[in-house]
Amino acid sequence: MIMRRYILIVAVTALTLGFSACNSSAQKDAKTIETAKPKGKYYCTMHPEITSDKPGTCSKCGMDLAERDTTK
Ligand SMILES: [Zn+2]
Repeated sequence: MIMRRYILIVAVTALTLGFSACNSSAQKDAKTIETAKPKGKYYCTMHPEITSDKPGTCSKCGMDLAERDTTK
């Protein structure tokens, strides 16, 4: 009986540790995405991953690219 309880505690601890480790890495990823700035002065407001050094249109939706606010 005592052994069973011990195994249960170990399992719960491992799960908790695994979950929190997973959580912190997810937060780290979100922060990385937030701080990563795509290259290109112009970007599509609908598709921020579409960027260009020159004014133009988005290759995905054809919208005019917006100029990036470099003051922020
Ligand atoms: Zn677009």
